[in-house]
Amino acid sequence: MSEAKKTLRMLVALQDLDLMIREARDPESLGEEENLGFKLRNLETLQATRGKLAEQIGPRLLSLYERVSRRYGRAVVPVEGRVCLGCFMTLPTSVAPTKLEDSHIALCENCGRILYWL
Ligand SMILES: [Zn+2]
Repeated sequence: MSEAKKTLRMLVALQDLDLMIREARDPESLGEEENLGFKLRNLETLQATRGKLAEQIGPRLLSLYERVSRRYGRAVVPVEGRVCLGCFMTLPTSVAPTKLEDSHIALCENCGRILYWL
């Protein structure tokens, strides 16, 4: 697997973790007291996993991810038939997985989200 693909998988996993962490912190989801202990332990595990993943991704890409995710909520979006599913713009043909450098992470020119191909 190429470096770019590995990095993208990690970013997608990081995004999933962030969504789970957000959900676990949601006061409404903490409603039932019998589940509270379980949920808090779960949250700790999620945060520890996130920390490890963040370390592997590295500070440069992580800060890009965090900037985009603060702006949109979802920083990493799939591309379907050359369309960015974040903003629904058709991407130029130069942004195609076959044309990308191995270490290159593609960003949507229109919205700036991080792209991945399904
Ligand atoms: Zn876009």
